[in-house]
Formats: sequence, structure tokens, C-alpha cells
Amino acid sequence: MLLRDATLVDSAGVRVGDVRIDGDRIADTGDLAPHGDEPVVDLDGTAVLPGLVDAHVHYSLSGEPSVEDVIGMSDAELALTEARNARATLEAGVTGVRVMGARDVDVEVRDRIAAGDIPGPRTVANCRSITATGGHGHHLGREITGADDARRAVREQAKLGADFIKFMVTGGVTTPGSDPGAVALTDAEIDAIVDEAHRQGLHTATHAHGSAGAKAAIEAGVDTVEHGTLLDEEGTEMLVREDVTLVPTLSAPHHIVRNVDAAAEERTQTEAVYERHLESFRRAVEAGVRVAGGTDAGTPYNMHGANAAEIQFMHDHAMDALDAVVAMTETAADAVGLDDQGTLEPGTYADLLLVDGDPTDDLTRLNDPSVVVKGGEVVAGGDPRIRRALADALAD
Ligand SMILES: [Zn+2]
Repeated sequence: MLLRDATLVDSAGVRVGDVRIDGDRIADTGDLAPHGDEPVVDLDGTAVLPGLVDAHVHYSLSGEPSVEDVIGMSDAELALTEARNARATLEAGVTGVRVMGARDVDVEVRDRIAAGDIPGPRTVANCRSITATGGHGHHLGREITGADDARRAVREQAKLGADFIKFMVTGGVTTPGSDPGAVALTDAEIDAIVDEAHRQGLHTATHAHGSAGAKAAIEAGVDTVEHGTLLDEEGTEMLVREDVTLVPTLSAPHHIVRNVDAAAEERTQTEAVYERHLESFRRAVEAGVRVAGGTDAGTPYNMHGANAAEIQFMHDHAMDALDAVVAMTETAADAVGLDDQGTLEPGTYADLLLVDGDPTDDLTRLNDPSVVVKGGEVVAGGDPRIRRALADALAD
């Protein structure tokens, strides 16, 4: 089937063109003539983007004011919560996600989505994030002490089917008593985690607020740095030199400083570093650090389905509008290992976001997609005209 007269938006730029979909893939993009009796949907300039890819999501959390609320859930409750949050994410136009794990549930949710049993984005999952004993996220993570234990923890996650390994190199704002500025793991532990993950063919992501922690992880060969809240100049230069991707998660502090009770520890800690976080992000963009969009959705008041706002935040604080879109499509897909998505190139999945008007003129347009297509099937959308025409054509 052929989508005609669209405004195409991806890393190749913003231009008028057509998209041919064949099964679950994009067959062709450009100035195309219909083949024989091929169904054609005229889009009258409606924008077509690759589905968004969010490099940092917590299906296990649902924007509760405190992560403590999730700790008492059974695995069954957690799995159902995750399924609901995965659906909300997909319906907002996010067709790819790297989900930061809680206990051992996320890999099951990933597999059920892939099997078509529940709706959700294509998902890259880990199991328990690795943290120092008593460290950030220890309630839902795998606590370690010592390099051998770190290596064992990586092997456990690999055995359970993790696609990547996440570790907490610093404290975090949502775990009472942990210090976001301090390095929480020893160099030997960090080296063991990264080395063992790479031996297993898994990429590594580190949660890092303080710059010393980020630098220790970069030194060890980490693949993505999450948050990068307090990056200094040296840390920024190391990201560029070592070709590490930064996932700035600007949505997380945005919601905490506006919503959480002013007396709560996580708000006090976040407010203290929010300006520094924005400054770190601006410096990283200016220095040419590769940035992938990730929301940290699920953290306090940071709701699943509001993912596209991250593109707006990245634009507001440093990036060109199209660059911000690319950060949360192609760059995020590449960074998390989701092959064949994030662009409108022929051969990639027909994961599409249809938006009324050019989103690079007004990024808020991404918050309310007309239609969401995953793998050549309409999965969500509020524009009845396009939705019906597209569903009919795709069903042909
Ligand atoms: Zn997170």
C-alpha cells in the first residue's frame, strides 16, 4: 500500500514524499507511483515519522510520588502493571523502548509483546539493575559486594535473558539515604560488570548523577550514561572521546521539581541539582556528545504516554528541533540495539507516527499523534478519517 503526499520527517530531513508499506516493513520511500491496483491513502501533507524510541523507561513504575509504593507488589501485580504501561507507551507513538528492569519481570513482558500476546513497543529489557548493597534502587535490583559478586550478578541477568546490563554507579534521588553525587561502586566492581557484560555480548548502561561516577564508568567502557546530571568538562570530553551515548532524561527532574511535595527528600535533592543538570546537557550538546532521547517514564509524576515531551525539553534546552526528533528515533534505536527502526529507510519496520502538521515547527504536535502504526498495523490514533482509510488499505 502507498501513503501519498506526506511530510516525511527523519534524519534525512523534512521533505514531501510517499511511503510504500509491504507487510510489516517499509518497502520504499520517495516520489513513488502506485503499482497496479495497490491501495493508496492520500495524506494531504500529514507528517509521517518513524515511531519514537525511548531509551530509558520504567514499565514497573507508574509515576507514583514514591518508588516505595511499588516495592510491596507481587510479581503478578508487577507484570500486569508493566503490561498496562507498555500499552500506554505504544499508544502514544513509541514503538521502541529500552526498559530498565525491576526484579525479573521485564524480560517476560518483552517476550509477550514480541509474541503478540499483549500490545507494547518493541522492547529491549534487563532484569535486576546492579547496585551496591544498600545502594540506589536496591529494593528492586541485584545488590552486589565485590568484583566476583558483580560478575556473578551479570551472569545471572544474562541467564534470565537480559538484553543489556544496567548498573548504578552513583546514588539516586528516589532512594532515601543514597547520595547522587557519590561513587557507589569500586573500580574493580565496575570493571567486572562491564567486562562480563561485553563478554556475554550485552551492552551496558549506567545510572550516573555525579561526574566522578560517570567518568569511572566511561573509563571501564560503558556504552550509555543515563542522566549525566553533574557532568564536568572532563566527563563531557570523555563521552566524546570514548564515543559513549548520553541519555539525559530531562523529563524526570522536570516533573519532580514541579509536583513532588516540597518537603520530600527526592524533591530537595532534585532541586539542588536541576540547573546543573540542564547545564550539563547544554554543554554535552555543544561538545558534540551523541544524545539519545529517554524519559525515565514511571518516575514520580513522569507518566507513561507523555514520552514525546522529552523531545520538546531537549529542544527547549539545547537542540535543534529536528536533531531532538532524531535523538528520540534513530539515535535511541541505535544506542539500545533496536535494529531496523528509527528511520523511514526502506527495509525498516513500518513503525510510523502520523502527526497533523510538521512537528519541527511545533513539537507539541507529537503529543497527540493522529495515527500510530507498528509493523504495518494501526495500533492507535484519534483521526478517524486517516485511521479508517489506513486500516482498510493495510488490511487489503
Ligand atoms: Zn531510570
